[in-house]
Amino acid sequence: MTPPVFRFAPSPNGYLHLGHAYSALLNFQRAQESGGRFLLRIEDIDPTRCRPDYEQAIYEDLAWLGIAWAQPVRRQSEHLTEYGAALARLQATGLVYPSFESRAEIARLVAQRDGGGGWPRDPDGAPLYPGQAKMLSEAQRAELMAGGAPYALRLDMAAAVARVGRLSWEEAGSGPGGETGAVEARPAAWGDVILARKETPTSYHLSVVVDDALQGVTEVVRGRDLFHATSVHRLLQALLGLPVPAYRHHQLIRDGQGHKLSKSTLATGLRTLRAEGVSPAEIRHRIGLV
Ligand code: GLU
Repeated sequence: MTPPVFRFAPSPNGYLHLGHAYSALLNFQRAQESGGRFLLRIEDIDPTRCRPDYEQAIYEDLAWLGIAWAQPVRRQSEHLTEYGAALARLQATGLVYPSFESRAEIARLVAQRDGGGGWPRDPDGAPLYPGQAKMLSEAQRAELMAGGAPYALRLDMAAAVARVGRLSWEEAGSGPGGETGAVEARPAAWGDVILARKETPTSYHLSVVVDDALQGVTEVVRGRDLFHATSVHRLLQALLGLPVPAYRHHQLIRDGQGHKLSKSTLATGLRTLRAEGVSPAEIRHRIGLV
């Protein structure tokens, strides 16, 4: 049997906090216990939010925690052509279309249609895309694109789901509703998701499934906040013919008041704690890992 491959995949858009420490240490420990490999992947496709100093801080904070990772580190910003190739394969299936509305326009369209306030929202709480741009003709799309209009490439969710049928994944942890074991994917809950934008030829969903497959990741261990995103990942794996890793969604570490941790809260930031003299062993203790 080939050894399992684990990964920790932070975005360098802020400093790591106790929740990241939990996820990284859990992945690292499981890799060590199983004789597997532990990879670090830098998810830096958004140049407006990612910064080199945050990336440097990730390396420092993880090393301080006693974590060692395989080299070279995969930095997503260096692999846009690979995501572009996967996108082209999806486009060739006829399931991808461009939409041209801004966020504000989408909000207006939804408000117009949302008589009783029952407009469907995705698991993150954003209103589903109303599907306006699906009606545009090829000529209209070509004209808008040639005119330099910004656009997002979306997956026609209903058609994609009809194409692949029912999908599931093996969940070793649990979802927010206690889902575990063979979990049925429900990608339709996300509507016509964005796969790429004019200025960025990929998205979180697309790059994650491409990378997990390319890097031979067999175990995805990550926070429960990404449980519902797995439905989209499972769908993209099916459309692209990629292998399906096992998933373990873990509990989220909360602050003293029970709130989810945020990169903007300094109190639970690993840098702050380190500067206060907290040791890596104390960090492990605080998050329930010994
Ligand atoms: N980059 C994502 C984040 O920072 C995690 C991606 C994943 O583990 O699939 O939340």
